[in-house]
Amino acid sequence: MINIDNLKKVENLINESKTIAVVAHVDPDGDSIGSIMTLKEILTLKNKEVDFYINGEIPFNYKFIKDVDKGSKLINKNSYDLLFVLDSSDIDRLSGLKDLITVSKKSICIDHHKTNKGFCDVNLIEPEFSSTGEILFEIFKKLNYEINKAAAENIFISIITDTGKFIYDNANYKTFENVGLLLRKKIDKPKIIKNLYSNEPKKIFKLKSEVFNTTEFFCQDKVAVSNINLDMLDYYNLGYKDIDGLVERLRDIDNIEVSILIKEINKDEYKVSMRSIGNIDVSKICSLFDGGGHKNAAGFSIKNTAFNELKKRIIQEVVKHGI
Ligand code: 5GP
Ligand code: MN
Repeated sequence: MINIDNLKKVENLINESKTIAVVAHVDPDGDSIGSIMTLKEILTLKNKEVDFYINGEIPFNYKFIKDVDKGSKLINKNSYDLLFVLDSSDIDRLSGLKDLITVSKKSICIDHHKTNKGFCDVNLIEPEFSSTGEILFEIFKKLNYEINKAAAENIFISIITDTGKFIYDNANYKTFENVGLLLRKKIDKPKIIKNLYSNEPKKIFKLKSEVFNTTEFFCQDKVAVSNINLDMLDYYNLGYKDIDGLVERLRDIDNIEVSILIKEINKDEYKVSMRSIGNIDVSKICSLFDGGGHKNAAGFSIKNTAFNELKKRIIQEVVKHGI
């Protein structure tokens, strides 16, 4: 439930502000982009001067979103009346944008990660919502703001991507009720689905196929491990932003309880993504490597460890956690 005092604070701060910046975490995904573009639409309808910034390269399947290409630079970097920080579980997730919190007159953090401790002047941390986009929908419905078709489409993008196409447990009955309301606003669902999910360039398909082909199985086929390195990316002239969904796909194999994707970031650094079904809490495993996340989706980065050694250590930890 969104706290009524916080709602009032958001309303007052918007009323008092003329220039507003909207940002979110690095490595943009559907919810960070969807929620930024939602807020940009809603605040522009209120005649605010809105700057927004997509924090990293935009994956190809989000490029169709109206005005998303305009989110590559902040104009008034030092002088915003109000800053919105969206979908960022801690301040480090802002990467190069951290200073905006100190230089902006006021800041509001809106997020659904339960580990978020709040690092702005006003913090709306609402873990019962599927996505930050859905929290924004709830806020602006309650405040009776106009939510136009573009905003509704962006909220839908936040929800469908952060729930894994409505599959994960975070898609609850309220989420479906909200999706119903968005559909009533005549959003162009076929256009959105086509662009998000049926738009994959052939070379991405080929690269993903290579990753799947080299998957190894452990622990009576309950653990799947795959990896991707820079040579593979170079060969297809692709970046990591182009190939999401791999570790989730591995988890979909029958019998799999934990899936692991090890990505080479540079010659002595790896980024590991882990997913699980059921009781194994991969965030606990990742926190042993100084990472974190959620019970069923977590990750970490590690330097100066050889690939085979890293793989062995992760599998050992999975075994210790009860596979
Ligand atoms: P992904 O594997 O898609 O990068 O991340 C899955 C989840 O784990 C996300 O919720 C993300 O916030 C979290 N996560 C990924 N990498 C890290 C990390 O290095 N540190 C922390 N604290 N969380 C991470
Ligand atoms: Mn999110």
